[in-house]
Amino acid sequence: MRIAFFSDVHSNLEALQAVLDDAKEHKVEKFHFLGDAVGYGPDPNECVKIVCDLSEICLYGNHDYAALGLMDISYFNPYAAEAIRWTQSNLSTESKELFKDFKMTAKVDDIFLVHGTPGNPEEWDYLLDLADAEYNFPAFEEKVCLVGHSHVPVVFKKKGEERALLSREVEVFLEDDWRYIINIGSVGQPRDNDPRASYLIYDQPEKHLFLKRVEYDFTVTQKKMAELGLPKYLYDRLAVGR
Ligand code: ZN
Repeated sequence: MRIAFFSDVHSNLEALQAVLDDAKEHKVEKFHFLGDAVGYGPDPNECVKIVCDLSEICLYGNHDYAALGLMDISYFNPYAAEAIRWTQSNLSTESKELFKDFKMTAKVDDIFLVHGTPGNPEEWDYLLDLADAEYNFPAFEEKVCLVGHSHVPVVFKKKGEERALLSREVEVFLEDDWRYIINIGSVGQPRDNDPRASYLIYDQPEKHLFLKRVEYDFTVTQKKMAELGLPKYLYDRLAVGR
């Protein structure tokens, strides 16, 4: 079976639909979501509904938490905070209900799932470099940990007590003796200088994981955001993936 893991949709319906179409083409049968359904983008309720209908597991991201009023947004940058306030006033009762089934962490097969880091799921830390990876490898027991949050896809791998390695490869064949932390990137707001939506497909029998990029028409999303008065900085960045 093929399973898709996706994260950081951020209310971007066009990117989400492009990813779902792509997953269908790749014969994906199951979906799991790693958090941040909302924040930044123009279609929070549509995205929450699709994410929930589709996914077996849904995790919270920090923007979901913030939109539900469960955390202080004073550390958010001003654009993110403005988008959160807009999301708070536009989030439907139905969406708020759907969020009640979200979790902080989960486990599928030998894969641990968390939005930020396995070490401190509730702190919303970022897992960006080898030092972060070294700190977090002992924090989960499974062979693989999948994360989102930074919007930058990257693979860390570690064999026994040897130092962890960083890889920008988009394909991983799970090997005996190795463990992995993989950031699956963002569907709705990529930040690795590539505007295409990012997600991951796990081919279970082959023990093969691959990061996928999918083009979508971000000008549609940008137009919606401009019309709703969302910050220009937030829709300009969709064109460049930053
Ligand atoms: Zn995010």
